[in-house]
Amino acid sequence: MTPMFRQYAELKSQHPDAVLFFRVGDFYEMFHSDAVEVSRMLNLTLTQRNGIPMCGVPFHASRSYIGRLLKLGRKVAVSEQIELNPDGKGPARREVVEVVTPGTVVDDVYLDDKSNNYLAALAGTADSAGFAYIDLSTGEFRAARLDSDAPQDALRRELARTSPREMIVQESLLETEIFTFSPDDRMVINRLPDWNFDHRKAAESLNRCFGTVNLKAFGIEGEDVRALAAGAVLDYIEDNHATLLPHVHSLECRGADDSVGLDESTIRNLELVGNIRDGGRAYTLLETLDHTKTSAGARSLRRRLLQPFPKAAEAESCHARVESLYRDQSLLSSMRRVLTGVGDIERLAARCGMRRANAKDLIAIRNSLHRAAELRRLVGDELLDCSASVIEGLFERAAELADFLSRSLLDDPSTVLTEGRMIREGWDEEVDRLRRIRDEGKGFLDDYAAEERVATGIPSLRIKHNRILGYFIEIGRNQASGAPERFRRRQSLTQVERFSTEKLEDLDAEISSAGERLIERERELFTDVLKTVKDAVDDLLTLGRLISDLDLVQSFAHSATEYGYVKPRMTDEPVSRISGGRHPVVERYLSDGNFVPNDIELDGQSVSFMLVTGPNMAGKSTVLRQAALITLMAQCGAFVPADSALIGTADRIFCRVGASDNLARGESTFLVEMNETANILRGASERSLVIMDEVGRGTGNADGLAIARAVCEHLLENTAPRTLFATHYMELTNFVHPRFQNLSMAVTETGDTIVFPKILQEGPAEASYGIHVAALAGLPETVIRRARFLMESASSESLPSRQPPVRETAPLLFDPREMILDAVEGLDVNELTPLKALQLIARWKEDLDS
Ligand code: ADP
Ligand code: MG
Repeated sequence: MTPMFRQYAELKSQHPDAVLFFRVGDFYEMFHSDAVEVSRMLNLTLTQRNGIPMCGVPFHASRSYIGRLLKLGRKVAVSEQIELNPDGKGPARREVVEVVTPGTVVDDVYLDDKSNNYLAALAGTADSAGFAYIDLSTGEFRAARLDSDAPQDALRRELARTSPREMIVQESLLETEIFTFSPDDRMVINRLPDWNFDHRKAAESLNRCFGTVNLKAFGIEGEDVRALAAGAVLDYIEDNHATLLPHVHSLECRGADDSVGLDESTIRNLELVGNIRDGGRAYTLLETLDHTKTSAGARSLRRRLLQPFPKAAEAESCHARVESLYRDQSLLSSMRRVLTGVGDIERLAARCGMRRANAKDLIAIRNSLHRAAELRRLVGDELLDCSASVIEGLFERAAELADFLSRSLLDDPSTVLTEGRMIREGWDEEVDRLRRIRDEGKGFLDDYAAEERVATGIPSLRIKHNRILGYFIEIGRNQASGAPERFRRRQSLTQVERFSTEKLEDLDAEISSAGERLIERERELFTDVLKTVKDAVDDLLTLGRLISDLDLVQSFAHSATEYGYVKPRMTDEPVSRISGGRHPVVERYLSDGNFVPNDIELDGQSVSFMLVTGPNMAGKSTVLRQAALITLMAQCGAFVPADSALIGTADRIFCRVGASDNLARGESTFLVEMNETANILRGASERSLVIMDEVGRGTGNADGLAIARAVCEHLLENTAPRTLFATHYMELTNFVHPRFQNLSMAVTETGDTIVFPKILQEGPAEASYGIHVAALAGLPETVIRRARFLMESASSESLPSRQPPVRETAPLLFDPREMILDAVEGLDVNELTPLKALQLIARWKEDLDS
């Protein structure tokens, strides 16, 4: 092993779970398995040296490669050459100077400005586990206790709403196999041995971070798994960054559930923040509702959609604020205009807190503070989501800070500390002087030359410059004898003599070092400015939060205006009374006025369960989801797409979609479906809202029906959550129960064609209209006719046995007609794709022809 590789092996052994960027000259090299893996992930050329696989990236482009690796869920340890070996032999000493991990990055280039970037930790025991998460780029830090009845479900809900990029897990929790993770979770999992998780140590870390003596202020007393998890988060950050975290100024602790529980499949099926097709923003509730003007506002909206308010009162106070803007459209539009210029104060402040901010960041803060002052002039206290004591003096201090930044920094400063060009004129005399010397050095020399011409009486005296002599005085040979004593001869050429003087040497030194001294001075001053801003980090974060919340509220008011939403009435009773409800996303993708509104009335006492039947494409899925979305929007504090709505808050919302509607996921669909169903039956309370869309399709007819039936019974007879259940099993419509109601999507028949007016009506569907849909799908006329005949015969008792055709020849052993009939009889038209149908027909035709 060469010394360099020995060094590599040593550094790698310190960071076994990270990709090691090993600095060699102008490149970061990777070796061994790192090289094999990274070359594949980043599409780099894999080469070999002494049989060792290697690949490399140029150091100046490293950030983009690191960014891509982080996205792919890898950590990167960056090593640099620290110093040459003192004896000049052997390789340069190298050290890992930075470990970049997906959950701890704060550089803008690595972050998505519209979503939070969380690092999470899971600690404790299976019976009592704590979950904590932090966004280092904004300072948000929270911890929760997982519900001990179903800790895995509780964890899944936490993960679904935070999507951490990275998580620290106490090792023994993984061994219980209660908590399991898969590559689908797309996060880095750091298993840490149990001895890292110690209540005393965790409390110490937290107290050190917050400057507290105990954790009572965070609602934590005694040994608490939330503190355990939060402490692990802090330790991990310290291990990787060793940066103080002044912008993380509090830990918010909560009990098992303080927001509406939404699990991952509900979030996916309702397409809240990502669509089912490719996970993108198009066709999502987030896309429809996002009229925020700032990145921080966009992040709050996303957070709110994933963590709606559990109680009516909180939602109502947000509705009241939305309403006051909704009613004052001119205020709304002024606010939107002013918000446009606000930067990402949260992230800027966090960068100041970590001393990673550059001068442009501070200017962005200044500009945002000016905007904040404008906002303050526009809005009254009632629009601000905070107590009077919080805003006391806040805006005055902000204005002072803005003024301070205006006076100290240039409007368009350099972002590089080693370039100067940050400090404004008039802020510091020394900077002004050095700048004059640097920029006007030529003028100083001209002045001096003129001075000497007068003093010596030699008009041809000039000051010139070359690389060897620096500045010098040049006098023509014939006048050189007139040079005074104090002129020291430097060089004699045939035509001229060159001299120097003490003053010229001083000027030379001053001019050539002015640039450097200026940079040094500006750097010092900038550090002071940064420190002042850093001391105001708490104010900045408070302002950032107030503004992002205002942005969220104005965004709700704006969508209410644009799309005609109304303020819902709220209650904590389990009722849903929506009249003229619309699907907020589907209606946006239809041309104006083409969406058909529907009413939904559910009431925990009289009707808690609605069974919705109707043919394919009749609008079942849409009406179900719109009930869930309207409830969720109301609990987010938003207005809702309806004529009027009384919304009983749901403690949890579940949305499940039958497997055949969900094939894209390519999982063992039936198993998944049953898992998810089990999860609802376990987790739904009488205050929950359950949407089941064609659940039970993933298996054969009879057992699918049996399961669907049993699930209905369970939901009705046990906790009785408000449930909307769409099914193609007509058999379920026979169900009788006082809280059960049959509904269906209307169908209008005109002759042979049918129309789905998308109206939800009372009573079960009359037929499943599978044949009509088959006709719409383009099945050949003969097949449709035959199928219709079979259907009719089927409904008037069992299938007639067909008269065997009279045959001249000996009868065939198997009559193809009989076989085809049998086949048709056994078909589930609902399960039939048009392509499959065509293939079947082709085969039958072949059988008949042979
Ligand atoms: P189903 O679940 O019964 O098969 P969907 O809910 O998927 O039907 O609706 C089928 C299509 O009809 C949707 O893609 C949507 O564009 C349209 N649609 C559904 N509901 C409405 C409505 N209320 N008004 C207008 N178009 C609707
Ligand atoms: Mg459907």
